[in-house]
Order: sequence, then structure tokens, then C-alpha cells
Amino acid sequence: MMSETNTLNIGAIYPCAKTLGPGKRFAIWVQGCLFDCPECYSPEWRSVKIKCLLPLSALAEHILRTPGLEGVTLSGGEPMLQASALFKLIKIVRKSRSLSLICYTGFTLKQLRRQGHPDRTALLGQIDVLIDGKYTPSLNDNQGLRGSANQTIHFLTGIYADRKVEFISARRAIQIHVDEDGLLAVGVPPQGFAKDLKRIVKSVK
Ligand code: SF4
Repeated sequence: MMSETNTLNIGAIYPCAKTLGPGKRFAIWVQGCLFDCPECYSPEWRSVKIKCLLPLSALAEHILRTPGLEGVTLSGGEPMLQASALFKLIKIVRKSRSLSLICYTGFTLKQLRRQGHPDRTALLGQIDVLIDGKYTPSLNDNQGLRGSANQTIHFLTGIYADRKVEFISARRAIQIHVDEDGLLAVGVPPQGFAKDLKRIVKSVK
């Protein structure tokens, strides 16, 4: 039986990501993760406390009124901890628009299939590309859209079959967005990025 929920606990959203998959993408970083990857990219989104509860209807509306989107990218935090809400969100959105779905997760695809968790299985059924496994900084080889070489990019549907190279070995880029809430780095960080960013922030202060 699937869980009943109509809200999503959000770490951050960014409606015009150009660095997390093909085209312009609506990026959603969910709040909460139970993994403990060393040098986690996003420690501020690991706490499983409530950060910002967004109604699914409002988030879906935001996605649907964002022009020029190719798709949605889910990251975090750990999307599979909120699989029920994310499944519902993508179902609402896809009723009106055909958008692709890319999802990062610390679980491996094998683990998710073995678990057979109904919510996670339902969400998996909506995902076009799954980038799986825990981040391992010593295996960060600056290649493509996965954070480290132990992670696998699974093309679960044929939608990006002709763009695999882009996912696997494209040069990474980071978008930096600054607003009143602070700085948001959008993309898969290359090795040493956290240190470089700190240096840049210091130099402009
Ligand atoms: S899975 Fe992602 S958010 Fe969770 S600890 Fe690892 S890098 Fe951080």
C-alpha cells in the first residue's frame, strides 16, 4: 500500500537548471537523507527535520508554469525517502506536460528492486534516468553527471538513448545562483569544488 501524503519536504528548488541533465530542468532537492557519504555535497539537506513543506499542488503548478522545460531532476537529500510524494507530483505534472525525469539516489538500483518498497517502486516506474549509489569522493573523476565512478547511470527508458555520452562523460558545469536566501550551486561538483567556492566567496567579501 502506498503512503498518503500531499506535501513535500524541500531543501531547495531551482526552476532553470542547465547543469543537471539535458535542456532546461526544474531541479528539486528534497530535505532529508539517512546516508553518510564523506564530503557530502549537500550536508544542509541531510537532516530529516521539516525544512519547508510545500503542497504538491503548488509545486506542480510552479513546474507547469515554468516555460521551456525539458524535464525535472530530483536530488537531495534522498528522494527515495519521499518517494510517495514525488510519485504523486510527477503524475500530476505529466497529466499536463510531457517532461523527462532524472533522479539521483544514494541507494543502488539493485537495492531498490530488492526492497520492493511500494512507493519507491512506483517512483522508479516514472524515472527515465536513475543515477545511483553513495557518493565516494576518492572516486570523483570529474566525469559526466554522476558524482563518483562507483555510481551508475541507468537509462531506464529509451528517452535519452541517443544522449548517453552527455550523461556519462560530458564536461561538468556549475551554475551559481545568489539571492536573499544565499548561494545555490547547481550541478555535479568537480573535485575540490567546495574549497574553490569558499575561496571565491572569501575573495568577494
Ligand atoms: S546520498 Fe547524497 S545527500 Fe545523502 S549523504 Fe550521500 S551525498 Fe549526501
